Amino acid sequence: MRCRGLWELAQGRPLPRRFVVLGAGKTAMDTCIWLLQSGTPADAITWVMPRDSWVVNRLTTQNGPEFFQEAIGGQADQMQAFAEARSIDDLYLRLEACGSLLRIDRGRMPTMFHLATLSQAEVDELRRIRNVVRLGRVKAIDAGGMQLEQGEVAIAPGALFVDCTASAVQFKEAAPVFQGSRIVVQLLRAPLVAFSAALTAHVEAHCDDEAHKNRLCKPVPFPRTPADYARTVAVNMGNQLQWGQDAALRQWIRQCRLDAFGRLTSGVDKADAEKQALLARLKTQSQAAAANLPRLLAAAAAG
Ligand SMILES: Cc1cc2nc3c(=O)[nH]c(=O)nc-3n(C[C@H](O)[C@H](O)[C@H](O)COP(=O)(O)OP(=O)(O)OC[C@H]3O[C@@H](n4cnc5c(N)ncnc54)[C@H](O)[C@@H]3O)c2cc1C
Repeated sequence: MRCRGLWELAQGRPLPRRFVVLGAGKTAMDTCIWLLQSGTPADAITWVMPRDSWVVNRLTTQNGPEFFQEAIGGQADQMQAFAEARSIDDLYLRLEACGSLLRIDRGRMPTMFHLATLSQAEVDELRRIRNVVRLGRVKAIDAGGMQLEQGEVAIAPGALFVDCTASAVQFKEAAPVFQGSRIVVQLLRAPLVAFSAALTAHVEAHCDDEAHKNRLCKPVPFPRTPADYARTVAVNMGNQLQWGQDAALRQWIRQCRLDAFGRLTSGVDKADAEKQALLARLKTQSQAAAANLPRLLAAAAAG
């Protein structure tokens, strides 16, 4: 544990003998990876994980032309999973099988999905941590250890507790984006915040009819659980359909630098048979996914 980063953290004081990372969202994942990459032995980390999480495979999120196969092929694979899944669990196993999603512990079915993104190498790194506490949330910490919702864990003196329990997302009920003189900015394509805000501004500047503006800007719910993601994808796709029917908006989106995937697909050479075949597959699978989404939404609602 002599890495520079850790010494800077300790500011010259002796390094903690143990790190106890509280929480299992992206902040905690990044903290654990940073500790491991700073030379902390995996056995010196205790990870409090109230819920296991599905994570997005970073490979499928790269939007440079050199990743066309992974990005667009990955989207087609994801749509195929949505088209063929018979239940929410089945959907996630398919998404994992096609490399779209990853999980840290393959022996457990995660119950959380907040769209955190990791590479396969980062997941492999996190799997080295064996001291994972799955006893719910921490209620109190004292000199002897931690009280959790479902039990107590003793922690030897000299440990540093790293609090990663704050959430990046404040979950709010969706509201109409355009409300008279008020604009309630929300996600219109998850998880693209800047693109959603730019599209909202574009619609405000170019359309007058409030009902039409709200039809173009339906808020996309951010997922909390694996089941929620079916609704996220359904609203994402519904918005895409609406935008596609408006020629001027379609043209604006095509040129918008914030929509990197859109630019990736619209820039494909007509003579590039391989990429055109992938785009055709994406279209076919998206249509099949849209047809199966009501079944998945019903499964999600039934819990
Ligand atoms: C606009 C937007 C953009 C995003 N962009 C990216 C991106 O570029 N890359 C990326 O990877 N992700 C991105 N994400 C997704 C983001 O990584 C996830 O939302 C992520 O899960 C946030 O992690 P978090 O740790 O902040 O919060 P959370 O996921 O909410 O994690 C909090 C954790 O703390 C736990 N906890 C709470 N209370 C306690 C307690 N008392 N004791 C113990 N544990 C507790 C919870 O159970 C949970 O595990 C984006 C999200 C949004 C909304």
